[in-house]
Amino acid sequence: MNPLLRHRALFYWLVLFLVGALWIGRQNYVDQYDRFFQDTSIAQRMLSQKAVQHEAVLATLSALSHPPAPERLFPSLQPAMPQLQGLGYLPGGAWAGSTDEPPGLATAVAQARSLGRPVVLPRDAARYWLVAPSSWSLLVDARDLVAPADLPAGLANLTLAIGQAPLTLLARQPDATGPGWPLALSKPLGAASQPFMLHSLRTLTPASWPWLPWLLWGLTSALLVAGVTATRRSRADARRQQEQARLAAMARLSTLGEMAAGIAHELNQPLTAILAQTRAAQRLLDDEDERPAVRHALLASAEQAKRAADIISRMRALVQPRVPGRREALDPDALAASLQFLREPELARQGIRLTWRNANPGARPLGDRVALEQILHNLVQNAADALVAAPISPPAPPGANAPPGTPLPLRADAPSQREISLDGCVQGDAYVFSVSDNGPGIPADALPRLFTPFYTTREQGMGLGLALCETLAGAMDGRLAARNLQPSGACFTVTLPLAKGAA
Ligand code: ADP
Repeated sequence: MNPLLRHRALFYWLVLFLVGALWIGRQNYVDQYDRFFQDTSIAQRMLSQKAVQHEAVLATLSALSHPPAPERLFPSLQPAMPQLQGLGYLPGGAWAGSTDEPPGLATAVAQARSLGRPVVLPRDAARYWLVAPSSWSLLVDARDLVAPADLPAGLANLTLAIGQAPLTLLARQPDATGPGWPLALSKPLGAASQPFMLHSLRTLTPASWPWLPWLLWGLTSALLVAGVTATRRSRADARRQQEQARLAAMARLSTLGEMAAGIAHELNQPLTAILAQTRAAQRLLDDEDERPAVRHALLASAEQAKRAADIISRMRALVQPRVPGRREALDPDALAASLQFLREPELARQGIRLTWRNANPGARPLGDRVALEQILHNLVQNAADALVAAPISPPAPPGANAPPGTPLPLRADAPSQREISLDGCVQGDAYVFSVSDNGPGIPADALPRLFTPFYTTREQGMGLGLALCETLAGAMDGRLAARNLQPSGACFTVTLPLAKGAA
Protein backbone atom coordinates (compact mmCIF):
# COMPACT_ATOMS: atom_id res chain seq x y z
CA MET A 1 0.00 0.00 0.00
CA ASN A 2 1.38 3.42 -0.82
CA PRO A 3 1.97 5.86 2.07
CA LEU A 4 -0.85 8.18 0.99
CA LEU A 5 -3.39 5.35 1.11
CA ARG A 6 -1.97 4.16 4.44
CA HIS A 7 -2.28 7.64 5.95
CA ARG A 8 -5.79 8.00 4.61
CA ALA A 9 -6.80 4.61 6.00
CA LEU A 10 -5.26 5.57 9.35
CA PHE A 11 -7.17 8.84 9.35
CA TYR A 12 -10.46 7.09 8.54
CA TRP A 13 -9.80 4.55 11.26
CA LEU A 14 -9.05 7.30 13.77
CA VAL A 15 -12.25 9.20 12.92
CA LEU A 16 -14.30 6.00 12.99
CA PHE A 17 -12.72 4.88 16.24
CA LEU A 18 -13.27 8.24 17.94
CA VAL A 19 -16.91 8.44 16.85
CA GLY A 20 -17.52 4.86 17.99
CA ALA A 21 -15.54 5.34 21.20
CA LEU A 22 -17.56 8.45 22.04
CA TRP A 23 -20.79 6.57 21.41
CA ILE A 24 -19.60 3.63 23.54
CA GLY A 25 -18.48 6.03 26.29
CA ARG A 26 -21.79 7.86 26.23
CA GLN A 27 -23.76 4.60 26.18
CA ASN A 28 -21.70 3.28 29.06
CA TYR A 29 -22.30 6.49 31.00
CA VAL A 30 -26.05 6.30 30.34
CA ASP A 31 -26.10 2.63 31.47
CA GLN A 32 -24.12 3.38 34.57
CA TYR A 33 -26.31 6.36 35.38
CA ASP A 34 -29.47 4.27 34.90
CA ARG A 35 -28.12 1.62 37.23
CA PHE A 36 -27.03 4.30 39.70
CA PHE A 37 -30.48 5.90 39.53
CA GLN A 38 -32.20 2.55 40.09
CA ASP A 39 -29.88 1.60 42.96
CA THR A 40 -30.37 4.98 44.61
CA SER A 41 -34.14 4.64 44.20
CA ILE A 42 -34.01 1.19 45.80
CA ALA A 43 -32.03 2.56 48.74
CA GLN A 44 -34.47 5.46 49.02
CA ARG A 45 -37.43 3.02 49.02
CA MET A 46 -35.79 0.82 51.66
CA LEU A 47 -35.12 3.82 53.92
CA SER A 48 -38.59 5.25 53.23
CA GLN A 49 -40.20 1.94 54.27
CA LYS A 50 -38.38 2.12 57.58
CA ALA A 51 -39.51 5.69 58.09
CA VAL A 52 -43.09 4.74 57.27
CA GLN A 53 -42.72 1.81 59.71
CA HIS A 54 -41.87 4.31 62.46
CA GLU A 55 -45.05 6.24 61.70
CA ALA A 56 -47.04 2.98 61.82
CA VAL A 57 -45.53 2.00 65.20
CA LEU A 58 -46.32 5.44 66.61
CA ALA A 59 -49.87 5.27 65.25
CA THR A 60 -50.34 1.84 66.82
CA LEU A 61 -48.98 2.99 70.19
CA SER A 62 -51.14 6.12 70.10
CA ALA A 63 -54.21 4.01 69.46
CA LEU A 64 -53.66 1.81 72.51
CA SER A 65 -55.96 2.76 75.38
CA HIS A 66 -53.76 0.90 77.88
CA PRO A 67 -50.31 0.95 76.45
CA PRO A 68 -47.65 -1.22 78.12
CA ALA A 69 -44.87 0.49 80.01
CA PRO A 70 -42.26 1.77 77.55
CA GLU A 71 -39.34 0.08 79.34
CA ARG A 72 -41.12 -3.27 78.88
CA LEU A 73 -42.24 -2.55 75.39
CA PHE A 74 -38.83 -1.48 74.13
CA PRO A 75 -37.05 -4.89 74.40
CA SER A 76 -39.88 -6.57 72.50
CA LEU A 77 -39.72 -4.07 69.64
CA GLN A 78 -35.95 -3.71 69.40
CA PRO A 79 -35.12 -7.08 67.75
CA ALA A 80 -37.43 -6.31 64.79
CA MET A 81 -36.32 -2.67 64.68
CA PRO A 82 -32.56 -2.50 65.38
CA GLN A 83 -32.62 1.23 64.64
CA LEU A 84 -34.88 1.79 67.70
CA GLN A 85 -32.89 3.23 70.59
CA GLY A 86 -35.68 4.14 72.94
CA LEU A 87 -39.32 5.10 73.28
CA GLY A 88 -41.63 6.82 75.68
CA TYR A 89 -44.56 9.20 76.07
CA LEU A 90 -46.08 11.73 78.34
CA PRO A 91 -48.96 10.11 80.15
CA GLY A 92 -50.57 12.91 82.15
CA GLY A 93 -47.78 15.32 81.24
CA ALA A 94 -44.89 13.36 82.84
CA TRP A 95 -42.33 11.45 80.81
CA ALA A 96 -42.47 7.67 80.83
CA GLY A 97 -39.85 6.09 78.59
CA SER A 98 -37.09 3.56 78.18
CA THR A 99 -34.55 6.42 78.08
CA ASP A 100 -34.38 9.99 79.38
CA GLU A 101 -36.88 12.54 78.20
CA PRO A 102 -35.61 14.33 75.15
CA PRO A 103 -35.15 18.06 75.52
CA GLY A 104 -37.77 20.09 73.71
CA LEU A 105 -40.33 17.31 73.72
CA ALA A 106 -43.25 19.54 74.80
CA THR A 107 -42.63 21.91 71.88
CA ALA A 108 -42.31 19.02 69.51
CA VAL A 109 -45.58 17.52 70.74
CA ALA A 110 -47.31 20.89 70.31
CA GLN A 111 -45.87 21.14 66.80
CA ALA A 112 -46.98 17.58 65.98
CA ARG A 113 -50.44 18.30 67.21
CA SER A 114 -50.69 21.42 65.11
CA LEU A 115 -49.44 19.54 62.04
CA GLY A 116 -51.53 16.45 62.79
CA ARG A 117 -48.54 14.16 62.19
CA PRO A 118 -45.30 13.13 63.88
CA VAL A 119 -42.37 15.55 63.79
CA VAL A 120 -38.62 15.04 64.05
CA LEU A 121 -36.65 16.19 67.01
CA PRO A 122 -32.98 15.74 65.97
CA ARG A 123 -30.60 14.61 68.67
CA ASP A 124 -27.33 14.48 66.77
CA ALA A 125 -26.18 13.81 63.23
CA ALA A 126 -27.32 10.15 63.40
CA ARG A 127 -30.16 10.03 65.87
CA TYR A 128 -33.51 11.71 66.09
CA TRP A 129 -36.70 11.51 68.13
CA LEU A 130 -39.86 11.05 66.18
CA VAL A 131 -42.61 12.62 68.21
CA ALA A 132 -46.28 11.83 67.53
CA PRO A 133 -49.21 14.19 68.34
CA SER A 134 -50.12 11.64 71.05
CA SER A 135 -46.69 12.38 72.63
CA TRP A 136 -45.52 8.84 71.92
CA SER A 137 -41.91 9.21 70.75
CA LEU A 138 -39.33 6.90 69.19
CA LEU A 139 -35.61 7.41 69.35
CA VAL A 140 -34.19 6.25 66.02
CA ASP A 141 -30.56 5.71 65.08
CA ALA A 142 -30.47 6.25 61.28
CA ARG A 143 -27.18 4.33 60.99
CA ASP A 144 -29.14 1.14 61.70
CA LEU A 145 -32.06 1.81 59.39
CA VAL A 146 -30.65 -0.51 56.73
CA ALA A 147 -27.61 -2.73 57.05
CA PRO A 148 -24.99 -1.54 54.49
CA ALA A 149 -24.72 -5.09 53.14
CA ASP A 150 -28.43 -4.98 52.22
CA LEU A 151 -28.02 -1.85 50.10
CA PRO A 152 -27.58 -2.40 46.32
CA ALA A 153 -24.06 -3.30 45.36
CA GLY A 154 -23.95 -0.57 42.71
CA LEU A 155 -24.16 2.20 45.28
CA ALA A 156 -20.98 3.96 46.35
CA ASN A 157 -21.57 6.76 48.82
CA LEU A 158 -24.82 7.54 50.62
CA THR A 159 -25.53 10.32 53.09
CA LEU A 160 -28.72 11.24 54.89
CA ALA A 161 -29.39 14.77 56.08
CA ILE A 162 -30.90 14.45 59.55
CA GLY A 163 -29.16 17.07 61.62
CA GLN A 164 -26.76 19.82 60.65
CA ALA A 165 -24.02 17.52 59.30
CA PRO A 166 -24.90 14.81 56.83
CA LEU A 167 -24.87 11.27 58.14
CA THR A 168 -22.78 8.82 56.12
CA LEU A 169 -24.74 5.64 55.50
CA LEU A 170 -22.38 4.11 52.98
CA ALA A 171 -18.81 4.90 51.93
CA ARG A 172 -17.75 2.32 49.42
CA GLN A 173 -15.83 4.77 47.23
CA PRO A 174 -13.51 6.84 49.37
CA ASP A 175 -11.99 8.58 46.32
CA ALA A 176 -15.37 9.69 44.95
CA THR A 177 -14.13 13.21 44.59
CA GLY A 178 -11.11 12.12 42.53
CA PRO A 179 -10.80 12.19 38.71
CA GLY A 180 -13.69 10.80 36.69
CA TRP A 181 -17.31 11.47 35.87
CA PRO A 182 -19.39 12.13 39.01
CA LEU A 183 -22.90 10.68 39.26
CA ALA A 184 -25.00 12.38 41.93
CA LEU A 185 -28.63 12.11 42.95
CA SER A 186 -30.64 13.54 45.86
CA LYS A 187 -34.03 12.22 46.88
CA PRO A 188 -36.07 12.87 50.03
CA LEU A 189 -37.36 9.84 51.94
CA GLY A 190 -40.96 9.10 51.11
CA ALA A 191 -42.38 9.62 54.61
CA ALA A 192 -44.06 12.95 55.37
CA SER A 193 -42.76 12.99 58.93
CA GLN A 194 -39.13 12.15 58.06
CA PRO A 195 -38.40 13.73 54.65
CA PHE A 196 -34.62 13.47 55.13
CA MET A 197 -32.69 14.18 51.97
CA LEU A 198 -30.79 11.15 50.72
CA HIS A 199 -27.68 12.01 48.71
CA SER A 200 -26.11 9.40 46.53
CA LEU A 201 -22.72 9.94 44.91
CA ARG A 202 -20.62 7.79 42.71
CA THR A 203 -17.67 8.71 40.49
CA LEU A 204 -17.00 6.86 37.28
CA THR A 205 -13.26 6.62 37.75
CA PRO A 206 -10.97 5.49 34.90
CA ALA A 207 -11.16 2.00 36.36
CA SER A 208 -14.86 1.86 35.51
CA TRP A 209 -14.48 3.22 31.96
CA PRO A 210 -15.36 0.81 29.16
CA TRP A 211 -11.81 -0.14 28.24
CA LEU A 212 -12.67 -3.57 26.87
CA PRO A 213 -15.46 -2.34 24.55
CA TRP A 214 -13.13 0.44 23.41
CA LEU A 215 -10.39 -2.06 22.72
CA LEU A 216 -12.76 -4.35 20.86
CA TRP A 217 -14.14 -1.40 18.91
CA GLY A 218 -10.57 -0.31 18.09
CA LEU A 219 -9.86 -3.75 16.67
CA THR A 220 -13.22 -4.03 14.89
CA SER A 221 -12.95 -0.57 13.33
CA ALA A 222 -9.38 -1.30 12.26
CA LEU A 223 -10.56 -4.53 10.62
CA LEU A 224 -13.46 -2.66 9.07
CA VAL A 225 -11.24 0.05 7.61
CA ALA A 226 -8.72 -2.55 6.47
CA GLY A 227 -11.52 -4.55 4.84
CA VAL A 228 -13.02 -1.51 3.13
CA THR A 229 -9.57 -0.35 2.01
CA ALA A 230 -8.77 -3.82 0.67
CA THR A 231 -12.15 -4.04 -1.09
CA ARG A 232 -11.70 -0.62 -2.60
CA ARG A 233 -8.18 -1.51 -3.64
CA SER A 234 -9.29 -4.78 -5.19
CA ARG A 235 -12.13 -2.93 -6.94
CA ALA A 236 -9.60 -0.40 -8.25
CA ASP A 237 -7.36 -3.30 -9.32
CA ALA A 238 -10.29 -4.94 -11.07
CA ARG A 239 -11.11 -1.65 -12.78
CA ARG A 240 -7.46 -1.29 -13.80
CA GLN A 241 -7.43 -4.85 -15.11
CA GLN A 242 -10.63 -4.21 -17.05
CA GLU A 243 -9.08 -1.06 -18.47
CA GLN A 244 -5.93 -2.95 -19.37
CA ALA A 245 -8.01 -5.71 -20.96
CA ARG A 246 -9.94 -3.09 -22.91
CA LEU A 247 -6.69 -1.48 -24.08
CA ALA A 248 -5.28 -4.89 -24.95
CA ALA A 249 -8.45 -5.68 -26.90
CA MET A 250 -8.09 -2.39 -28.73
CA ALA A 251 -4.43 -3.11 -29.40
CA ARG A 252 -5.41 -6.56 -30.68
CA LEU A 253 -7.97 -5.00 -32.96
CA SER A 254 -5.48 -2.54 -34.36
CA THR A 255 -2.89 -5.32 -34.74
CA LEU A 256 -5.57 -7.29 -36.55
CA GLY A 257 -6.09 -4.33 -38.86
CA GLU A 258 -2.38 -4.06 -39.46
CA MET A 259 -2.16 -7.79 -40.03
CA ALA A 260 -4.96 -7.54 -42.57
CA ALA A 261 -3.09 -4.74 -44.32
CA GLY A 262 0.10 -6.85 -44.24
CA ILE A 263 -1.70 -9.84 -45.77
CA ALA A 264 -3.10 -7.62 -48.50
CA HIS A 265 0.43 -6.34 -49.14
CA GLU A 266 1.86 -9.83 -49.42
CA LEU A 267 -0.92 -11.13 -51.63
CA ASN A 268 -0.68 -8.18 -53.93
CA GLN A 269 2.40 -9.55 -55.68
CA PRO A 270 1.06 -12.96 -56.77
CA LEU A 271 -2.35 -11.50 -57.58
CA THR A 272 -0.79 -8.82 -59.77
CA ALA A 273 1.27 -11.49 -61.49
CA ILE A 274 -1.85 -13.66 -62.02
CA LEU A 275 -3.64 -10.66 -63.47
CA ALA A 276 -0.77 -9.90 -65.82
CA GLN A 277 -0.41 -13.53 -66.95
CA THR A 278 -4.17 -13.96 -67.45
CA ARG A 279 -4.39 -10.79 -69.48
CA ALA A 280 -1.46 -11.87 -71.63
CA ALA A 281 -3.14 -15.29 -72.13
CA GLN A 282 -6.37 -13.54 -73.04
CA ARG A 283 -4.59 -11.50 -75.69
CA LEU A 284 -2.85 -14.52 -77.18
CA LEU A 285 -5.89 -16.82 -77.00
CA ASP A 286 -7.12 -16.29 -80.54
CA ASP A 287 -3.73 -16.89 -82.10
CA GLU A 288 -3.18 -20.65 -82.78
CA ASP A 289 0.61 -20.17 -82.91
CA GLU A 290 0.70 -18.68 -79.43
CA ARG A 291 -0.85 -21.71 -77.76
CA PRO A 292 2.37 -22.68 -75.96
CA ALA A 293 2.69 -19.12 -74.67
CA VAL A 294 -0.93 -19.23 -73.44
CA ARG A 295 -0.27 -22.56 -71.72
CA HIS A 296 2.86 -21.07 -70.20
CA ALA A 297 0.98 -18.00 -68.95
CA LEU A 298 -1.78 -20.15 -67.45
CA LEU A 299 0.79 -22.39 -65.79
CA ALA A 300 2.49 -19.31 -64.38
CA SER A 301 -0.89 -18.05 -63.15
CA ALA A 302 -1.60 -21.34 -61.45
CA GLU A 303 1.85 -21.20 -59.92
CA GLN A 304 1.12 -17.72 -58.56
CA ALA A 305 -2.30 -18.78 -57.25
CA LYS A 306 -0.61 -21.61 -55.41
CA ARG A 307 1.89 -19.10 -54.14
CA ALA A 308 -0.91 -16.86 -52.85
CA ALA A 309 -2.42 -19.84 -51.03
CA ASP A 310 1.00 -20.63 -49.61
CA ILE A 311 1.42 -17.07 -48.41
CA ILE A 312 -1.92 -17.25 -46.60
CA SER A 313 -1.01 -20.51 -44.89
CA ARG A 314 2.37 -18.99 -44.04
CA MET A 315 0.71 -15.98 -42.46
CA ARG A 316 -1.46 -18.32 -40.47
CA ALA A 317 1.61 -20.22 -39.37
CA LEU A 318 3.11 -16.90 -38.29
CA VAL A 319 0.28 -16.03 -35.96
CA GLN A 320 -0.06 -19.58 -34.67
CA PRO A 321 2.52 -21.40 -32.56
CA ARG A 322 5.47 -22.05 -34.74
CA VAL A 323 5.13 -25.17 -36.88
CA PRO A 324 8.40 -26.37 -38.37
CA GLY A 325 8.35 -25.71 -42.12
CA ARG A 326 8.68 -28.44 -44.70
CA ARG A 327 12.43 -28.33 -45.28
CA GLU A 328 14.35 -29.77 -48.16
CA ALA A 329 17.66 -29.38 -50.00
CA LEU A 330 17.03 -26.57 -52.46
CA ASP A 331 18.57 -25.84 -55.83
CA PRO A 332 19.53 -22.15 -55.82
CA ASP A 333 19.82 -22.01 -59.62
CA ALA A 334 16.27 -23.32 -60.09
CA LEU A 335 14.97 -20.83 -57.52
CA ALA A 336 16.77 -17.93 -59.15
CA ALA A 337 15.59 -18.97 -62.60
CA SER A 338 11.98 -19.08 -61.41
CA LEU A 339 12.43 -15.69 -59.78
CA GLN A 340 13.90 -14.19 -62.91
CA PHE A 341 11.22 -15.75 -65.06
CA LEU A 342 8.49 -14.23 -62.92
CA ARG A 343 9.97 -10.82 -62.17
CA GLU A 344 12.05 -9.89 -65.20
CA PRO A 345 9.30 -8.59 -67.51
CA GLU A 346 7.97 -6.23 -64.85
CA LEU A 347 11.47 -5.20 -63.77
CA ALA A 348 12.47 -4.60 -67.35
CA ARG A 349 9.51 -2.27 -67.74
CA GLN A 350 10.93 -0.29 -64.82
CA GLY A 351 14.36 -0.23 -66.43
CA ILE A 352 15.83 -2.59 -63.87
CA ARG A 353 18.20 -5.39 -64.70
CA LEU A 354 18.13 -8.49 -62.54
CA THR A 355 21.25 -10.69 -62.54
CA TRP A 356 22.03 -14.04 -60.89
CA ARG A 357 25.39 -15.45 -60.08
CA ASN A 358 26.03 -18.64 -58.16
CA ALA A 359 29.58 -19.03 -56.83
CA ASN A 360 28.94 -22.63 -55.68
CA PRO A 361 26.53 -24.23 -58.13
CA GLY A 362 26.59 -27.64 -56.42
CA ALA A 363 25.69 -26.31 -52.98
CA ARG A 364 22.23 -27.05 -51.61
CA PRO A 365 20.81 -24.86 -48.89
CA LEU A 366 18.32 -26.49 -46.58
CA GLY A 367 15.03 -24.67 -46.36
CA ASP A 368 11.38 -24.33 -47.19
CA ARG A 369 11.10 -23.54 -50.88
CA VAL A 370 7.98 -21.39 -50.64
CA ALA A 371 9.36 -19.44 -47.68
CA LEU A 372 12.68 -18.82 -49.41
CA GLU A 373 10.91 -17.77 -52.60
CA GLN A 374 8.80 -15.42 -50.61
CA ILE A 375 11.86 -13.90 -48.96
CA LEU A 376 13.70 -13.45 -52.26
CA HIS A 377 10.60 -12.03 -53.93
CA ASN A 378 10.25 -9.54 -51.12
CA LEU A 379 13.88 -8.51 -51.22
CA VAL A 380 13.80 -8.09 -55.00
CA GLN A 381 10.57 -6.09 -54.73
CA ASN A 382 12.09 -3.85 -52.04
CA ALA A 383 15.20 -3.32 -54.17
CA ALA A 384 13.01 -2.47 -57.16
CA ASP A 385 10.97 -0.03 -55.04
CA ALA A 386 14.15 1.65 -53.83
CA LEU A 387 15.53 1.85 -57.39
CA VAL A 388 12.32 3.24 -58.88
CA ALA A 389 12.09 5.88 -56.17
CA ALA A 390 15.68 7.05 -56.81
CA PRO A 391 16.23 9.23 -59.89
CA ILE A 392 19.17 8.13 -62.02
CA SER A 393 20.63 9.65 -65.09
CA PRO A 394 20.32 8.93 -67.89
CA PRO A 395 17.08 6.96 -67.45
CA ALA A 396 17.26 3.45 -68.73
CA PRO A 397 14.85 2.63 -71.54
CA PRO A 398 12.13 0.31 -70.20
CA GLY A 399 12.45 -3.26 -71.31
CA ALA A 400 15.59 -2.48 -73.29
CA ASN A 401 17.75 -5.20 -71.87
CA ALA A 402 16.08 -8.15 -70.35
CA PRO A 403 14.89 -11.02 -72.39
CA PRO A 404 13.00 -13.27 -69.96
CA GLY A 405 14.96 -16.11 -68.52
CA THR A 406 18.34 -14.79 -69.58
CA PRO A 407 20.77 -14.51 -66.69
CA LEU A 408 22.45 -11.14 -66.77
CA PRO A 409 26.11 -10.49 -66.02
CA LEU A 410 26.92 -8.94 -62.70
CA ARG A 411 26.71 -5.22 -62.73
CA ALA A 412 29.98 -3.46 -63.59
CA ASP A 413 30.31 0.15 -62.82
CA ALA A 414 27.31 1.56 -64.62
CA PRO A 415 25.72 4.22 -62.52
CA SER A 416 23.12 5.01 -65.12
CA GLN A 417 21.69 1.45 -65.01
CA ARG A 418 19.25 0.32 -62.32
CA GLU A 419 20.44 -3.09 -61.25
CA ILE A 420 19.53 -5.82 -58.85
CA SER A 421 22.17 -8.51 -58.33
CA LEU A 422 21.13 -11.82 -56.92
CA ASP A 423 24.14 -13.79 -55.67
CA GLY A 424 24.62 -17.15 -54.03
CA CYS A 425 27.69 -18.56 -52.36
CA VAL A 426 28.79 -20.90 -49.59
CA GLN A 427 30.16 -19.30 -46.44
CA GLY A 428 31.43 -21.85 -43.95
CA ASP A 429 28.61 -24.30 -43.35
CA ALA A 430 25.96 -21.99 -44.69
CA TYR A 431 24.64 -20.90 -48.01
CA VAL A 432 24.16 -17.16 -48.45
CA PHE A 433 21.81 -15.51 -50.91
CA SER A 434 22.40 -11.80 -51.34
CA VAL A 435 20.14 -9.30 -53.06
CA SER A 436 22.02 -6.09 -53.86
CA ASP A 437 20.87 -2.99 -55.65
CA ASN A 438 22.51 0.22 -56.70
CA GLY A 439 19.76 2.39 -55.32
CA PRO A 440 20.07 5.07 -52.65
CA GLY A 441 20.77 2.58 -49.86
CA ILE A 442 19.20 2.45 -46.43
CA PRO A 443 19.15 5.62 -44.32
CA ALA A 444 21.48 5.18 -41.35
CA ASP A 445 18.71 5.73 -38.81
CA ALA A 446 16.50 3.13 -40.53
CA LEU A 447 19.09 0.33 -40.44
CA PRO A 448 18.50 -0.80 -36.84
CA ARG A 449 14.69 -0.75 -37.23
CA LEU A 450 14.37 -2.42 -40.63
CA PHE A 451 13.02 -5.72 -39.27
CA THR A 452 10.68 -4.14 -36.77
CA PRO A 453 7.12 -4.89 -37.84
CA PHE A 454 5.34 -1.94 -39.40
CA TYR A 455 8.49 0.09 -39.83
CA THR A 456 8.43 1.72 -43.25
CA THR A 457 9.77 4.82 -44.98
CA ARG A 458 7.57 4.33 -48.00
CA GLU A 459 4.32 6.17 -48.35
CA GLN A 460 2.50 3.07 -49.55
CA GLY A 461 4.62 0.71 -47.43
CA MET A 462 3.22 -1.54 -44.72
CA GLY A 463 6.51 -2.27 -43.00
CA LEU A 464 5.70 -5.96 -42.78
CA GLY A 465 7.79 -7.37 -45.62
CA LEU A 466 11.17 -7.49 -43.91
CA ALA A 467 9.71 -8.47 -40.53
CA LEU A 468 7.97 -11.36 -42.22
CA CYS A 469 11.14 -12.31 -44.16
CA GLU A 470 13.14 -12.34 -40.94
CA THR A 471 10.54 -14.57 -39.25
CA LEU A 472 10.47 -16.91 -42.23
CA ALA A 473 14.28 -17.08 -42.30
CA GLY A 474 14.35 -17.72 -38.55
CA ALA A 475 11.84 -20.56 -38.93
CA MET A 476 14.32 -22.22 -41.32
CA ASP A 477 17.18 -21.75 -38.81
CA GLY A 478 18.44 -19.04 -41.09
CA ARG A 479 18.90 -15.32 -40.68
CA LEU A 480 18.37 -12.13 -42.55
CA ALA A 481 20.79 -9.18 -42.53
CA ALA A 482 21.03 -5.80 -44.22
CA ARG A 483 23.89 -3.42 -44.96
CA ASN A 484 24.68 -0.53 -47.23
CA LEU A 485 27.02 -0.77 -50.20
CA GLN A 486 29.67 1.64 -51.45
CA PRO A 487 29.32 3.97 -53.24
CA SER A 488 25.56 3.45 -53.05
CA GLY A 489 22.96 0.73 -52.70
CA ALA A 490 21.74 -1.80 -50.20
CA CYS A 491 22.54 -5.47 -49.76
CA PHE A 492 20.27 -7.96 -47.99
CA THR A 493 21.58 -11.44 -47.21
CA VAL A 494 19.66 -14.60 -46.39
CA THR A 495 21.85 -17.19 -44.68
CA LEU A 496 20.60 -20.77 -44.62
CA PRO A 497 22.18 -23.96 -43.31
CA LEU A 498 23.66 -26.24 -45.93
CA ALA A 499 21.89 -29.54 -46.55
CA LYS A 500 23.93 -32.53 -45.34
CA GLY A 501 25.97 -34.09 -48.11
CA ALA A 502 25.66 -31.01 -50.31
CA ALA A 503 28.87 -29.92 -52.05
P1 ADP B 1 7.71 -1.80 -46.87
O1 ADP B 1 8.29 -2.32 -48.10
O2 ADP B 1 6.25 -2.01 -46.73
O3 ADP B 1 8.12 -0.41 -46.52
P2 ADP B 1 9.58 -3.55 -45.65
O4 ADP B 1 9.63 -4.24 -44.31
O5 ADP B 1 9.70 -4.45 -46.81
O6 ADP B 1 8.26 -2.70 -45.67
O7 ADP B 1 10.74 -2.52 -45.66
C1 ADP B 1 10.96 -1.66 -44.62
C2 ADP B 1 11.79 -0.46 -44.99
O8 ADP B 1 13.11 -0.90 -45.31
C3 ADP B 1 11.36 0.22 -46.25
O9 ADP B 1 10.32 1.16 -45.97
C4 ADP B 1 12.62 0.90 -46.70
O10 ADP B 1 12.82 2.12 -46.04
C5 ADP B 1 13.71 -0.03 -46.23
N1 ADP B 1 14.26 -0.84 -47.35
C6 ADP B 1 13.97 -2.13 -47.65
N2 ADP B 1 14.66 -2.56 -48.71
C7 ADP B 1 15.45 -1.50 -49.14
C8 ADP B 1 16.39 -1.32 -50.19
N3 ADP B 1 16.68 -2.29 -51.04
N4 ADP B 1 16.96 -0.09 -50.29
C9 ADP B 1 16.64 0.89 -49.43
N5 ADP B 1 15.78 0.77 -48.40
C10 ADP B 1 15.18 -0.41 -48.27
